[in-house]
Amino acid sequence: MRMYDIINKKKQGFELDREEIKYAVNGYTAGDIGDGQMAALLMAIRLMGLNESEIFAFTDAMAKSGEILSFSDDNAVVVDKHSTGGVGDKTTLIVAPLAAALGVRVAKMSGRGLGHTGGTIDKLEAIPGFNADLSIEQFRKQLACGNVAIASQTANLAPADKKIYALRDVTATVDSLALIAASVMSKKLAAGADAILLDVKVGSGAFMKTLDEAKELASLMVKIGRAAGKPTMALITDMDTPLGYAVGNALEVREAVEVMEGRGPEDLRKICIALTEAMLELADNSDSVSLDDGKALKKFRWMIEQQGVQPNGLDSLPTADVIHTVFAPQSGYIHSMDSEAIGIAACILGAGRDAPDAAIDFAAGILLRKKTGDFAQAGEALAELHTSDKRLLVEAEKILLAAYRFSDISPPEKPLILARITS
Ligand code: URA
Repeated sequence: MRMYDIINKKKQGFELDREEIKYAVNGYTAGDIGDGQMAALLMAIRLMGLNESEIFAFTDAMAKSGEILSFSDDNAVVVDKHSTGGVGDKTTLIVAPLAAALGVRVAKMSGRGLGHTGGTIDKLEAIPGFNADLSIEQFRKQLACGNVAIASQTANLAPADKKIYALRDVTATVDSLALIAASVMSKKLAAGADAILLDVKVGSGAFMKTLDEAKELASLMVKIGRAAGKPTMALITDMDTPLGYAVGNALEVREAVEVMEGRGPEDLRKICIALTEAMLELADNSDSVSLDDGKALKKFRWMIEQQGVQPNGLDSLPTADVIHTVFAPQSGYIHSMDSEAIGIAACILGAGRDAPDAAIDFAAGILLRKKTGDFAQAGEALAELHTSDKRLLVEAEKILLAAYRFSDISPPEKPLILARITS
């Protein structure tokens, strides 16, 4: 077999067979095939597409490039939950302990922040003492004791995806639905859950900007999961407006705790309940879900204490040295928000990274005071900017103000859950 022939075949739009795909993925991961040839194949795939059986083969080859974990046992169904990324998306912090408190075993290997969207591990690491680097044995033991663990992905989880994703990032081949679906699902299939719930975000703060695109991606990922024998479901949820009011790591942890105390923003509560119900359904568990009985918070505290946080750790979340209020420049309804821009403004304040190993200011971010649908009087507070470095305020404020669109009329209400994909 020759990589040249595989590239040439895909360039002409022909179907690659399983062996050819395995040859390319394994050869590139082992270093026998260079960046030039793999980049050419990825571009041919980006332009000519992959059919379903090619996507299944690509996913399988990437999943099997490293260790395939298994956390199954007879006592509980293990469910993984994955979000394609949004602004203010702290749902995992709430949903994982909530589902675990109801008997679902939640094994979550998570990533750090990507672009304008925050990562669950960054949010948890805002809690002083939190350890995300669990060994597989620690992870397994914690799951068996209390049903929930959230740790950063081990280096040996789908290493082919890691290498191929880095190459896609610099060769303009990230935006292929087939490659995105294979990339996400290779990690999910290797991560050892029995069932998978996908939260596919759509809107101005998400990677998928249109409902059609989000549905196509969701249905591809659901098909990949089911073809691999794992019950898989996707909810397509709105990301035109940030979730909740907090954007930024420590701010989001505080808001998640509020929700687990039975308070917090209505949109966030609603999505968390829908996601937890979907996880229960995947686990054939018919319990009813409540955020008001304190069970989720108790389980969350247990989890973070297992992972290194002192019992009063949530009282010592970092706070910003500089808090600057941004005021509405005019009166009117907030008609819409560019949520990606709000995520970018939070990153500029220090909440995200501009390079893979850059440090994060856990206290930095934005507390929104007005969101889509609210009425703001000129001069009323729109948002608070939190940072440790006041020099960052000017640029962040400019971006934040440009992200708000005002109107004389109230915008129509939009559903938060836009579709549910099960096959
Ligand atoms: N997230 C992933 O894990 N993979 C992609 O290709 C895009 C987003």
